[in-house]
Amino acid sequence: MNQAAGSKPVFSFEFFPPKNEEGAERLRRTRQRLAALSPAYFSVTFGAGGSTRDRTLETVLEIQREGAVEAAPHISCISSSRAELLELLHTYREHGVRRLVALRGDLPSGAGGGLGEFRYAAELVAFIRETFGSHFKIEVAAYPEFHPQAANAEKDLEHFRQKVAAGADSAITQYFYNPDAFVAFVDRVRAMGIDIPIVPGIMPITNYTQLARFSDACGAEIPRFVRKRLEAYGDDTASIRAFGTEVVTRLCQRLLEEGAPGLHFYSMNQAAPSEAVWNNLGLGELRASA
Ligand code: FAD
Repeated sequence: MNQAAGSKPVFSFEFFPPKNEEGAERLRRTRQRLAALSPAYFSVTFGAGGSTRDRTLETVLEIQREGAVEAAPHISCISSSRAELLELLHTYREHGVRRLVALRGDLPSGAGGGLGEFRYAAELVAFIRETFGSHFKIEVAAYPEFHPQAANAEKDLEHFRQKVAAGADSAITQYFYNPDAFVAFVDRVRAMGIDIPIVPGIMPITNYTQLARFSDACGAEIPRFVRKRLEAYGDDTASIRAFGTEVVTRLCQRLLEEGAPGLHFYSMNQAAPSEAVWNNLGLGELRASA
């Protein structure tokens, strides 16, 4: 695996926009704790549909106002018109946003409304580059275990190549628990001449039922030994968390040893699960001594 040796690792945390004021207050406390780890940025997911879209904007602007950590909004093209995306991108630029995670997106089940004017993330990336030049640093999604809707693995890699050719600066992966999938993916894309950083997305394990549901939907494999242990814990949340932290710490250790250029934590708006992994990895001390 060949990931730009010697450059400083990039750590980031992802949040979803809270649904109400109570959630917003909880997220503020989470941000305060995670900001202490000095991440490169906080990203905020984007949901199709008007009210979710507005909550992403509100959360992003709040992070920008706090000024502690750079905000990186996700933006997806699946259900937005070109004019809506343009307006949103102008708003972000006016508020000093310099980094975006550009996606096709998924429609929530049962969502009405038509599809947008762009069908794939590569078209959105090209549009952002054409309109805003190099103002935004653009992250795109990558799938070490392949996207569930891809016709096959080769086509999925070719579509990833198209997003990079359209102007992506770097990629964040879907979460996975098999480090070999990541190493093989990076080797393959390097062989295709793609040299952008590919940062593994890390999903802490806190709740087995929720994890199993997400993983089925997004095509992430939970290794059998992990699934069996988690199933056996039933409602014993403390044991699920302890075992989950052990599994995810080992995964991150291996990824960093293999040269991963950073880690992107899917925080699920909670500080403790990511902090536990961070502390086990000794990332605080590592950075202080760097
Ligand atoms: P694309 O890169 O467009 O690919 C989608 C599928 O289409 C793939 O199967 C690909 O192989 C295929 N494809 C691409 N181009 C073509 C083509 N020209 N012809 C035929 N097939 C093609 N979802 C949200 O709704 N909101 C979020 O905030 C969000 N954040 C995410 C963050 C990360 C880091 C990741 C990994 C995923 C995130 N997702 C989010 C989920 C993501 O939107 C879904 O996985 C979605 O199904 C695909 O988005 P994409 O940008 O990878 O799409």
